[in-house]
Amino acid sequence: MKIKLFLLLVIGFWGLSGTAFPSDSSSKEFQAFLKELKNRFSEYGWTDLKPEGIEWEYHRTTPGRRPLFFFPFGSGTENCTLLLGTVHGDEIPTAYVLFKLAEHLKENPDLYKERCIVVAPLVNPDGFLANPPKRVNSRGIDPNRNFPTRGWKDDALKQWQRAGRNKRYYPGQKPGSESETGFQTALINRFKPQKILSLHSPLNFYDYDGPSVGLNDFEKWLEKISKETNHPMKKLGVYPGSLGNYAGFERDIFVVTLELPSSDPRMGAQYYSQFKSAVGKFVRLGINGGKPMQSPVPE
Ligand SMILES: [Zn+2]
Repeated sequence: MKIKLFLLLVIGFWGLSGTAFPSDSSSKEFQAFLKELKNRFSEYGWTDLKPEGIEWEYHRTTPGRRPLFFFPFGSGTENCTLLLGTVHGDEIPTAYVLFKLAEHLKENPDLYKERCIVVAPLVNPDGFLANPPKRVNSRGIDPNRNFPTRGWKDDALKQWQRAGRNKRYYPGQKPGSESETGFQTALINRFKPQKILSLHSPLNFYDYDGPSVGLNDFEKWLEKISKETNHPMKKLGVYPGSLGNYAGFERDIFVVTLELPSSDPRMGAQYYSQFKSAVGKFVRLGINGGKPMQSPVPE
């Protein structure tokens, strides 16, 4: 009995120290991580990106001991947008677009005056930095099927099995079990965004989920953006454990998924210039009275 207790304590301490990571972006650990990241960036020819120029904030790490970081630009609460990239680690150019955008925001504080824009460019760093990069996290779980949505326990695994048990979409054994999913729900709880934009690739469309009130106006707005950026709109359903389901359906947050046309890292800069105006308009889009249940007001 005593030995068991001792072992539990040892394992407990080991577990704690295993996840400890100083939450200061100037720390040795974060600098080592940045070096790893920049090596990968240079393999992709992304030598113009300077992720070290932003004082990223983080409080969590992945099982691969990599930081789950973000930067909150501005402190407004009435119009807050959360931008998520690389939820799937092999959707490479989504990282470029958001790192570049974060640099642009840092240089242009007027863009986030009286609003807030939270940028998390690398939600699944273990997948992104794997060799080769992979969609799922280091535990083989798809962070976009692991959100604790209603009915997850009954549906998530069954749907996955029915769809042919594709390992790329494995939802895990328990809802909300994954660090990368917990990271996103923590950002939603802390910043209470009215809007979320999640970048994916390579399916080539805009999709959206959100509250039923105001959705018609929002749909019209997105149709306009779709034409302006010459990028199709497609309405897919939601899945158990997906962000659209968790944030859009269950929490009345307008969620846009931007699926880039390819996962080719060399396309990063091109996608940034193709979509930056759409992202800017989404960020500026006001939601009446700050309540997502009402119609959005284009600015
Ligand atoms: Zn994806």
